[in-house]
Amino acid sequence: MSNKSEIDLHIHSSASDGQYTSAQLMLLAQEVGLSVVALTDHDTTAGLAEAKQAAQTVGIRLISGIELDTKYPGIGGNFHILGYGIDPTHPALQEVCLDFASQRQERAERIFWYLESCGVCPSRQRVYELAGNGVMGRPHFARAMVEQGLVSSTREAFDLYLDTPQFQTIDRQKPHPREAIRMIMQAGGIAVLAHPSQLKLGEHLLSDLLVELKNDGLGGLECYYSTHSQEQTDQYVTLANQFGLFITGGSDFHGEKVKPQIELGRGIDGSLCIPSRLKILDQVTV
Ligand code: AMP
Ligand code: ZN
Ligand code: FE
Ligand code: FE
Repeated sequence: MSNKSEIDLHIHSSASDGQYTSAQLMLLAQEVGLSVVALTDHDTTAGLAEAKQAAQTVGIRLISGIELDTKYPGIGGNFHILGYGIDPTHPALQEVCLDFASQRQERAERIFWYLESCGVCPSRQRVYELAGNGVMGRPHFARAMVEQGLVSSTREAFDLYLDTPQFQTIDRQKPHPREAIRMIMQAGGIAVLAHPSQLKLGEHLLSDLLVELKNDGLGGLECYYSTHSQEQTDQYVTLANQFGLFITGGSDFHGEKVKPQIELGRGIDGSLCIPSRLKILDQVTV
């Protein structure tokens, strides 16, 4: 029996900061043997229509997804809420996405200014070119910095400049996770806490947080993820079962130029193995 994942519920397209268009992603997904994928772009549903058509053509199941960036006071890591089975055209969700996109545009100006003060500012034209019509994100800056030899890798761009305490001071305003959960539920979706390892909380604090978020409507926990160790995965599966949360999993594939080590459906060095029979798949209809 193969131990390769047949599903991947966390991928990014060029509608946000991924390298490939959503149609290219569906083709790639079929090529690597996936049968179910969720497109989860940051703060946008813009890639979903094209993905749906392409998924139909190649014969794989596409779940409409999104990944919303939030801020919980006192918690420093990436606090991302995934939404599955959302109505991509839901007016309130669209309104929030447009608002986030304009905040990101404003933040882009602050990022240029900040990188200039650090002496590593990439060409403005190239950053906008890489972002194209997509939602502007830090990886667009990181890629331009690599291309221009200002840093040696996207990893270095984040470690030294784009994921530092100083960067936090110029970052945009983000909603509380409770707001993101509410928005996803309003749009008909199931809200899932993404990559819990990135919150860097001990087991007790994470448990308390899950109880609180479950009360706010959280429906699932991303237990399987590219950078999770087996021990972490086991811990998250136990917590999900304990709190009655759906278990989900995904690679967070962005393309090799953005996250070089992460492969679609396979994670790092083929180590990601997501069970095909996740219960959430029976609950989402869109
Ligand atoms: P943004 O939406 O502009 O805040 O950028 C968030 C995205 O940047 C994440 O989804 C990742 O793709 C990437 N990212 C954030 N932190 C790091 C990091 N430390 N190393 C590499 N990529 C990162
Ligand atoms: Zn991203
Ligand atoms: Fe994320
Ligand atoms: Fe992601």
